[in-house]
Amino acid sequence: MAAKLLEGKAIAQDIRERLRGRIEELTRQGTQPGLGVVLVGSDPASSTYVNAKERACEELGIKSVDHRLPEDTPETELLRIVDELNRDDTVHGILVQLPLPDQISADRVTMAIDPDKDVDGFHPVNLGRLLRGQECFWPCTPHGVLEILRAGGVKPEGKHAVIVGRSNIVGKPLATMLMQKNETGNATVTVCHTRTPDLSVYTRQADILIAAAGKAATVTGDMLKPGAVAIDVGVNRVDDATKKKGYRLVGDIDFASASEVASMITPVPGGVGPLTITMLLANTVLSAERHRERRGR
Ligand code: NAP
Repeated sequence: MAAKLLEGKAIAQDIRERLRGRIEELTRQGTQPGLGVVLVGSDPASSTYVNAKERACEELGIKSVDHRLPEDTPETELLRIVDELNRDDTVHGILVQLPLPDQISADRVTMAIDPDKDVDGFHPVNLGRLLRGQECFWPCTPHGVLEILRAGGVKPEGKHAVIVGRSNIVGKPLATMLMQKNETGNATVTVCHTRTPDLSVYTRQADILIAAAGKAATVTGDMLKPGAVAIDVGVNRVDDATKKKGYRLVGDIDFASASEVASMITPVPGGVGPLTITMLLANTVLSAERHRERRGR
């Protein structure tokens, strides 16, 4: 393997240690950061994420306000809980775990969250602010990607960043962040999707290649420019009879071939994943600091 491994776990741990000091300071001043977490139903992947988020909050001293609701919860009840969390002065961030069951509109719920507590950064007000380069909450996964680049000493400025995927939670906000006129941006950005006729034409031009397609082996080593930085956001299950669970997790980039061509690469698991939760915690701390500042005025 030629590529240097960009390990998200260690980068996330570093950021969490820096957050710890800010949390202690806020708590000393009487504002313990609080995160409201809402989970509807018992989808195993969602439960795993929510449990990990709650554990991380506990480890760092962030108060977690937990709502676990049954699968058949009506939308009105969920909106009532969001409203309650919006009004709760001890809650600085609200996370409603997606996906939601069919009877609930994820759009309506996202819109109901106070943009000043929207630590996922999914509310249109935050996304609009992001597009305009204004102060906002950066969506957690794209923010995690930028943190990995920073930790690897990769400056996007002047580079060609190619993103595979245009979702509202990863591809689009990441493209916006990388093209922003600031020190974490200033890249030339190309966004590819399923209507891109020949993906490899674009991926081969990438100095920084970010895959967020949700399909294993979307990008293989022969699709990379030698020396490219390869960031893998994807998480996919592939059958593996040698594993107890019968499957293993892989990214969207074929790790074996890509790591022979890239200069740096993130593993899956243990790459972008640990950063996503960490950036959620970071947004919650930032929100508590902003709350304190507003109260102090
Ligand atoms: P999504 O909403 O399904 O979007 C996937 C995007 O990839 C779409 O824009 C799609 O194009 C594009 N795409 C799919 N196959 C493609 C192909 N063969 N060639 C080019 N483009 C292709 O997914 P998402 O929510 O952004 O998530 C993407 C992946 O990241 C998933 O595996 C997800 O589990 C993972 N993820 C990980 C984290 C983490 O913390 N590690 C966080 C979020 C997501 P169209 O728009 O044309 O359909």
